[in-house]
This record gives sequence, structure tokens and C-alpha cells, in this order.
Amino acid sequence: MFPYRLIVRLGVLLALCVSVAGQEVGERLCGTCKTSGKVVVPVSKKFAADHAHGETWQVLHCSDAIEADDMAMDWKPCARCKTPSVKEKAQQEWDAIEAANQTWLGARRSVDEMLDSKFSHVETTHFVVSWNVPKISVNRKSVKMHDAAHLYARRMEELYAKFQALFGIEDRQNMRNKHWFYVLEKERQALEAGPVFAGLQGSGTVKRAGGASQESVAVMWRDKSEHPGDDDFHRHWIHSAVHQFTSVFYDINWFKTGQKGLSPPWLNDKYGWLDAGLAHWFEMDFDQQCSTFCIREHDAKARWRGGDWRKNIWKAVMAEEAASFPEVISKPTPALSAREHQFVWSWVDYLMARDASAMGKALKMTKMEASTRDILKECWGISTIGFEIGWAEWVSSEYAPSSKDGRGGSRSQLPNLPTNGGRSGR
Ligand SMILES: [Zn+2]
Ligand SMILES: [Zn+2]
Ligand SMILES: [Zn+2]
Repeated sequence: MFPYRLIVRLGVLLALCVSVAGQEVGERLCGTCKTSGKVVVPVSKKFAADHAHGETWQVLHCSDAIEADDMAMDWKPCARCKTPSVKEKAQQEWDAIEAANQTWLGARRSVDEMLDSKFSHVETTHFVVSWNVPKISVNRKSVKMHDAAHLYARRMEELYAKFQALFGIEDRQNMRNKHWFYVLEKERQALEAGPVFAGLQGSGTVKRAGGASQESVAVMWRDKSEHPGDDDFHRHWIHSAVHQFTSVFYDINWFKTGQKGLSPPWLNDKYGWLDAGLAHWFEMDFDQQCSTFCIREHDAKARWRGGDWRKNIWKAVMAEEAASFPEVISKPTPALSAREHQFVWSWVDYLMARDASAMGKALKMTKMEASTRDILKECWGISTIGFEIGWAEWVSSEYAPSSKDGRGGSRSQLPNLPTNGGRSGR
């Protein structure tokens, strides 16, 4: 008679053997798929971007991949599998992916039909990009539609991850975690698509802030006179996306019953200086330039001085001609002048240099309709007067043309300024 313990051990061992191999009792093993039901398929270079991912994102669907052989997947069910049960499981998984892909593709291809144009559609964890510009030039290399859609989806995911990490924001604190970008080759397509997808018409970029009952959408026309190069277009996306990100940051759990805080259009109306200042800050962070003035912002064609905003602000501070902080902070974004756009960027630049993580808390406080005075005090430990003095001092040294890095100083160094000891963003 077998000792009971040995029988149990043998049983466990047998169970392990079955689960490792995957087949059911009595079934043969399959050498082709190593009894997994799936065979590895080499992915062509053309679909490399479909298998790219980051720590916070992955590619969920792609129109071109769905229409390619084997959906451009890196596996397929083992065709002549010797192990029926594992093959069946793999086939079920494949069929579910195919069904979900077809449903998604049907919805996306309705955009092609509406605008009578062939698009590449790519959905990643936080973005849906619908793109019909045949090709763009990136670092003097031609990038075709499908790769361009993936490239911009990836760039946006990277920006999204950076925005959330800097400000300590998590997906659960956003009203929407998906942002839709339509990128159109022709102006007439943008004029047609704007009202349908973003509820606005304009020949440039139109946006709809995400909210409880509406998606976060940007409809763009690839206007080469406005954004000549890939960097210019990328910078424009960054500016637009930051408006979309700050809009959706709103969690009903912050409020007591009966309260709801700031309503759409969110920062735009009451905190225009933060709304525009942050969007410009991320542009500047990208390549030291600001070139986007949204359609609702003041006269988009107006300019104040040259393109070097650091120099402009430094000169104004040295000449004691700075814009009035208490006056400008009461303005909605569309009321900001070209000159004020540069000042709001610089004010945000100063706060970001003092403590970038505090901006997350500041954004939360705007949604709770706190005054700018309270926001400065609680997030950065400064008074309104202290802010103006501290900012002017900082500008005079940080943006000075003689600064060592040639672009107005290193933003990580804050000489002669008290710090608030690494205050956390939340
Ligand atoms: Zn793809
Ligand atoms: Zn097999
Ligand atoms: Zn803007």
C-alpha cells in the first residue's frame, strides 16, 4: 500500500506536468507549438511600431495591422495542432481579438467614409490618432501615414507619462483617460470634421475639452504655413494636448456632497494664466520655442517682440515694464494679449522651477475654485507680493542673455531664493 503522503505528492507532480504542458489527460503533445496552441510569427519591420510599448502604454488597435496578414500579430493558432484542447483555447483567444478588432475598425473606418479619404487609425492606452496626411518628413526622412500615426501616438503617450509624473497625477483622477486626435491633410476636411468630432469649426486646430458626457477631442489640419516642420507640428500637439490633459483632471471625490467645483471650460475662464502658461511651458520644455496660440486665444496672428521669450521678458523686467500679475490673473485665456502670453508662460516657468510637483496640487485647487492667492500660498509657500518680487529677481538672473547655457540660464538653479523644501504635489 502506498503511503498517503506519497500519493498526494505524486498527484501534485502529475497535475504540474499536465498544466506545464497544457494538454488534457490522454492528449498528445504538439512539437510545432510546444503544446501552447500558438506558433510564433515573425513580425515584419512594417509593423514594428504595432508591437512597441512603454511602461504606461501599449498599442491596442491599428487599422493597418488589422487589415494585414494575421492582423500583424506575433503569433497565430497552431494550424495542424496535435493537441486539440490547447488549439481550441488559442483559437478562442484569436477569434476574440479578431472580433474586437473588426468592431473597432468598423467604427474608425466611418471617419474614412465621412471624409472620403483613407486614414491610418491607431489606438494606444490613452490616445486615438486618426491620420490621413500621406507622409511627413522627420529628421529629413520621409515617414508614411501608418508610421506617422504611430509616431505621434507614441510621442503623446510619452508626454502624457511626463505630465502625470511631474504633477503626481494618476488616471483615476481624470474624467477621461482617452484623448482623440484627428489629423487632416486638407483644410476642407478640417472644416468638415471639426463640428462633427469637436463641436467647433475652424480651419486650424479645434478642440473639445473632455468632460463627464463628452470625449476629449482635437481636430487638426496639417497646415504647413503654420507648422512648417515636424518639430513645429510636434510642438503644436504638445501645446494642444496639455490643454486637454489639464481639462480632464477632476475627481468628484475631492468634493463634499452637493459641491462640484469648477465647470467646463475649466481653467480657460478663471485661470487663463495657468491654462495658457502651462501649455506654453511644455512647448518651451520641448525645444525652447512657443508657436501655438489656440483659436480661442487672443488674436493668434499678433506677436510681441521677437521669438526669444526669455529675452523679451528679461528686457521688460529690467526696464520695469512687466505685466501686472494681479491684473492678468483675472483674465480668461481668450482675453490674454500676445504680450501677456509671454508673461503667463514666465510666471509658470518660475513656479515650475521652484517646485514642479506642486503644480499638481495647484491644478486640483483650481478645480476647487481656490483663489490664486491661496494656491500660491498653499502650493509654493509664497504670497502674491512675494511672488512678484521673487519672480522678477529670478528672471533678472535666469533669463539674463549672458547666462552660461546661452538660452537664459539653467532652470534647475534658484540662487537667492528660499525653497519650500520639496513640497509634494499632493
Ligand atoms: Zn500599426
Ligand atoms: Zn500545436
Ligand atoms: Zn493654447
